[in-house]
Amino acid sequence: MTMTHPGLPLEWSIFIIMSMFLLVGRLLLMTPQNKVMSYSLSFAEIPVISRIVKFLTDSVWPLLLLKIIMVCVFLLIIMAGLFGTPIAERNIATILTWNIWWAALIISVFFIGSAWCAVCPWDTLASWLVRRKLWQRAHPNNSLNLKVPRYLSNVWPAIIMLISLTWLELGFGVTTNPYITSVLALLMVVMATVSLAIYDGKAFCRYFCPVGRTIGFYSQLAPVELRPIDPDICAKCTTLDCYHGTETVEACPTHLVMGKLKQNTYCISCGNCTQSCPDHNIAWRLRSHGKEAIQDARPHWDEAWFMLILLALTGFHGITMMPFFESWLSKTAYYLQDSGQLLWSFTLLLFTSLLLILLIYFVFILIIKITSGTKLGVKKLFSEFAFVSLPLAFAYHLAHNLNHLLRENSDLSSLIANPFGMNAQPLTMMEKHTRHMEMLIPQDLLFALQAGLMVFGFWIGLKIIQHRSDNLLKTSNWQLSPMVLFVIVITTFHVFLLSQPMIMRM
Ligand code: SF4
Ligand code: SF4
Repeated sequence: MTMTHPGLPLEWSIFIIMSMFLLVGRLLLMTPQNKVMSYSLSFAEIPVISRIVKFLTDSVWPLLLLKIIMVCVFLLIIMAGLFGTPIAERNIATILTWNIWWAALIISVFFIGSAWCAVCPWDTLASWLVRRKLWQRAHPNNSLNLKVPRYLSNVWPAIIMLISLTWLELGFGVTTNPYITSVLALLMVVMATVSLAIYDGKAFCRYFCPVGRTIGFYSQLAPVELRPIDPDICAKCTTLDCYHGTETVEACPTHLVMGKLKQNTYCISCGNCTQSCPDHNIAWRLRSHGKEAIQDARPHWDEAWFMLILLALTGFHGITMMPFFESWLSKTAYYLQDSGQLLWSFTLLLFTSLLLILLIYFVFILIIKITSGTKLGVKKLFSEFAFVSLPLAFAYHLAHNLNHLLRENSDLSSLIANPFGMNAQPLTMMEKHTRHMEMLIPQDLLFALQAGLMVFGFWIGLKIIQHRSDNLLKTSNWQLSPMVLFVIVITTFHVFLLSQPMIMRM
């Protein structure tokens, strides 16, 4: 018997829909503003916190210690997956990877942006293996230092990796297979290592890694950023140590120049620049959520596709956990004469959902092109408005992941005591039921958080439309209606998904 989590109650769905109406009314009636209201506060200006943050960012030890801990946990996962029980819910490899890390990773972006990348064990192991140094810059760096070919220096490789990862996760069922979970984790280390040994900088992080790019794009909405304390110092800088590195500190692995940095997308929070800047002019800053997606981030064709595919995949992810998905899958299998694991049927449904979202978005872009009478090309409008998909995907992704994280808390103490799950039996229905009932927070609070997130995503989506239209189309608020309708359609779809019972992962 499959166990399900209850969906969002009707009153919360009504609350979200009412809030959407109010926000749309406000947008259509208010005078367009050219500049978004935003705040920014450098941690370097907050008395006690500035010292703590300075210690954490200027010294190599705290980060190195965290990296060592993450690598130890990672190696435990690998060993447990390879040599432990195949029962997913009894093996720490599957529980830590899919129930905890995969769900918490996206939630972490809401608070600390791409900080995960700073301690990522794939990258840490790749660096140790290639550079052969625990910390500090290696001379020589043991890489061929080739330039990434033009056809690979975009986010298309990461798009392919993200779709493949989703296929493996939801179609192939890697989440319930500890052994394949470990093999996949090892494969990521191999790819990161090979890339580091061949290409200049961290090409894997910048162009290929599906996790890094996902949290990189979501970090455009994060409330933190690493930026210059005094932009004038950067403007007058002649050494560009943040970019080139120093004798002891590595260069920026993703080739960013701090003085010109306007978006978090490719910053992997490694902290090299905070250590290499001779003026100690780089610090973490608090800022308003979404400011970067609303006004600072520049549109690019490949990045627009990434954001839209991310939106489609998060929705598809939700659909696969609905009880009705099983019947969709069997009906598709019946027409395709597919049998066994139904991988062809799953693949067809996956690509159909991707195409559907892209098509809906494209139609709305065409409508806005025709109704606004703009001379701008479809490609430009496509790239510029794709930012609206970020808060929509992020809000739903967070709301969905909260369900996994707060409702599927495994018995961590017994997993830590027996990480390989030796001699353990599968969870009984009674144990599953108990787990299901023992939530980490009250259920009503979870519903409130999910509803709040949906309204948050919708609100940021509207601000993106308004600000980008003001700059691009110089049009009246009413002419934004096609894009507003797109945001309403997607959010309503996400609310529908959240209001359905959701199948437990394991
Ligand atoms: S981009 Fe990927 S490999 Fe690089 S640090 Fe981030 S998660 Fe790790
Ligand atoms: S060196 Fe580059 S990637 Fe690392 S924190 Fe600084 S800007 Fe980000």
